[in-house]
Amino acid sequence: MELKIKNPATGKTITELQADTKLDVQVKLNTLRKGQKEWARKPLKARLDCIVKFGELIKENSEALAAILTEETGKPIQQSRNEINGAQNRIDHLSQYAARWLSDEVLVDSGATHEKISYEPLGVIANISAWNFPYNVGYNVFLYALVAGNSVMYKPSEYAALTGKQFEKYLHLAGVPENVFQCVIGDGSLGQTLLENNFDGYFFTGSYATGKHIAQSVAHKLVPVQLELGGKDPLFVTDDVLDIKQAAINVAEGAFYNNGQSCCAVERIYVSESIYDAFVDAFVEEVVSYKIGNPMHDATFIGPLTRGQQIEFLDKQVADAVSKGAVLKLGGQSLEEEGNYYKPTVLVDCNHDMNVMVDESFGPIIGIQKVGSDQEAIALMKDTAYGLTAAVFSTSEQRAMDILRDMDTGTVYWNCCDRVSPNVPWSGRKSSGLGSTLSSQGIRAFVQPKAYHLRVL
Ligand code: NDP
Repeated sequence: MELKIKNPATGKTITELQADTKLDVQVKLNTLRKGQKEWARKPLKARLDCIVKFGELIKENSEALAAILTEETGKPIQQSRNEINGAQNRIDHLSQYAARWLSDEVLVDSGATHEKISYEPLGVIANISAWNFPYNVGYNVFLYALVAGNSVMYKPSEYAALTGKQFEKYLHLAGVPENVFQCVIGDGSLGQTLLENNFDGYFFTGSYATGKHIAQSVAHKLVPVQLELGGKDPLFVTDDVLDIKQAAINVAEGAFYNNGQSCCAVERIYVSESIYDAFVDAFVEEVVSYKIGNPMHDATFIGPLTRGQQIEFLDKQVADAVSKGAVLKLGGQSLEEEGNYYKPTVLVDCNHDMNVMVDESFGPIIGIQKVGSDQEAIALMKDTAYGLTAAVFSTSEQRAMDILRDMDTGTVYWNCCDRVSPNVPWSGRKSSGLGSTLSSQGIRAFVQPKAYHLRVL
């Protein structure tokens, strides 16, 4: 079967890739199982050297790689460059910390019985990934897995398959053996095939619905399952914010960067009533300034949506909100020209009866709601099945901390948003996921401990 790769800016087919079959997956899995043993026997330094080399190759070819990413996902070219360059910080993090978290830990080295922990790779892992930030979310899994001594079958989303093939090409060029990393090409049905095979761990980035299906499907295998899922991330702007314009600029970027197609995009905004009107005016002024158009142009900030079907979903959110009393300040419809373009959309006077404040939008659309107190904001921020991130903009650290401590989310932000760092864990709670990538936790996610009790006779 051929997989058609389309350019979301034009709707035209870029190329067709040969999709992997069920048999291909089985053959590649057997190969990866053989390769993993030898890979794990290599010193950590040798595995890290390959990853560092991979990073250098990506850097050398970043302009061509950015063009591929933009062509297949519609991500504006400047944002593709940012993602490719920014993802390098995962490699720097591994270089700095992998030895600390993967080396043996000696707990008792005197007396009759010595005790230590060693960290062994899981084996062959399945990495089923998303299209929205393929470098970031891919690196979080496959680079960390490889450094820990695992072999990896990487299934990119069908919307980022060309980028997935580039990962494979450059990892092999960097010295990662072919029987240690394999990229398989296909749509969701190929992902399903991975679930039906016996991997030693499943690491998934994507929607709640697919994540839940994966966890249920592989539960009987009793292997680690890690899920990085969606969110409905709230942001609260308190009435002590002095520079309302600057706050609006930062918050708008958090909502509209990558067309809102970010797992930790700001998805709903609450604003204290005394600054509500001023904030809305500044916010709309900022969003109006965004340049929408050809994603290959340096100045473009809003390109096409990666998936055309999202347009109908966004139209429904707008219609639902407006029918329930929201005011449409901007956008609310697609562009008439070719490509999956949707105008940046701002809805104000929203409330939680509206889908736009409750269901993940994953597009260039935001709802803003007025609140009368911090308690009201807290209650609304917590009124969600998701638990990825939450943010507060406030001059007072104490006030922000009092709110953020109350959030049931894996990440909280004070005066910033839509941000990921390799130093701290990336994890979702409730419907936003299971387990952590990045940080010491993300390094240890790809190993299993072995306890040694050692006695000299
Ligand atoms: P999907 O869940 O639709 O797809 C994710 C991956 O799963 C893709 O590779 C997809 O293949 C594959 N897949 C689809 N069906 C199955 C199946 N039955 N079995 C196994 N694999 C399958 O996610 P989206 O493409 O919609 O991605 C967007 C979502 O990802 C958003 O909810 C976003 O918030 C979330 N996300 C979360 C992140 C986090 O770190 N928490 C980071 C990035 C995104 P294919 O695409 O080829 O159909």
